[in-house]
Amino acid sequence: MLTIDGSYGEGGGQIVRTAVALSVLTKQPIEITNIRAGRPIPGLRPQHFTALSCIRTICDAEVDGLSIHSTNLKFTPHDIKPGTYTFDIGTAGSMTLVFQACLLSAFHSSEPLTIILRGGTDVRWAPSWDYFAHIFIPLISKIGIKTDIKLLKRGYYPTGGGEATMTIHPVEKLLPFSAQDPQSFTEMSGIIHRANLPDHISTRMKHAAIKTALKQNLRSTIQIEAAPSSSTGTGITLWSESEGTILGSTVLGEKTLSAETVGETAANHLIQEIHSGATLDCYAIDQILPYLVLAPKGSACLIREISNHTQTNMWLIKQFFPVDFEVTPQQNALRIVVK
Ligand code: ATP
Repeated sequence: MLTIDGSYGEGGGQIVRTAVALSVLTKQPIEITNIRAGRPIPGLRPQHFTALSCIRTICDAEVDGLSIHSTNLKFTPHDIKPGTYTFDIGTAGSMTLVFQACLLSAFHSSEPLTIILRGGTDVRWAPSWDYFAHIFIPLISKIGIKTDIKLLKRGYYPTGGGEATMTIHPVEKLLPFSAQDPQSFTEMSGIIHRANLPDHISTRMKHAAIKTALKQNLRSTIQIEAAPSSSTGTGITLWSESEGTILGSTVLGEKTLSAETVGETAANHLIQEIHSGATLDCYAIDQILPYLVLAPKGSACLIREISNHTQTNMWLIKQFFPVDFEVTPQQNALRIVVK
């Protein structure tokens, strides 16, 4: 059994979800110790518990220590069982993080598998639904991963109540992702969602984002979505596409932030990524790293900086696979080549 120290690096939930997904993928039993030791309340929270419960169910795993607050988990995977599964996080815990964990566990299944989830679609410290739908999923589809996703209802902190589905289709062939030269980004697209809040919030957010982008000669198209939801919230996700890749940025609305600040901050984050010469943004890289390793040799990209999450994922992946990551400066960015 492979032992993974959950306190390594970022010491958060990501290391647990990714380790378990890689365990299923490689059929390698694992034990994770010191779960979320880097967080103020260590141990599994509802969102992590749901992600691991989903994975346990879809591969009929033998599991020890799967409960809320648990800091130690033993996980022995079996084959993926195709079918349709429904799970409820029960809080506004991030659904996109649960979908990502299931996808990494199950994309190599020979039959389609559908997951219906309830929880939070747009919550802090996680990919927003639109980041998932317009940045993460299109990026991994370039590597050959096939999914159908559908948002049924947005869910915000604290009650959640969001609903979405993801069908994972069998992969025919994985392709390397190669974006090692700076690319041209001239347009910005986006979605602003708003539930149970007045119209002017999204209009002000939109104008601020467009004004900020225009100063950098980025033409913008931003849609506003009045979202049906049983909870209240707003947020913006922006992205810019080049021939070979997509850069994204997302900011969630908060009571203490003006709509203008939210729109401007999201646009500035995207502009910062574009100006650095990156071909994957600082969040996409940690989420996509396992796929870059699983794809045939030759994957490479440019990133603005290596986050703690990325560093932690590099370390974790090396516990499972005999790979290395060559990191070299290239102008304002860092080039990462999977070796
Ligand atoms: P914990 O509660 O321990 O923080 P967690 O699993 O909820 O656990 P992390 O381990 O911090 O959270 O992982 C968060 C994931 O969400 C990372 O993959 C990170 O890239 C992604 N993420 C966080 N913020 C954003 C954002 N603004 N845009 C896109 N992705 C994000």
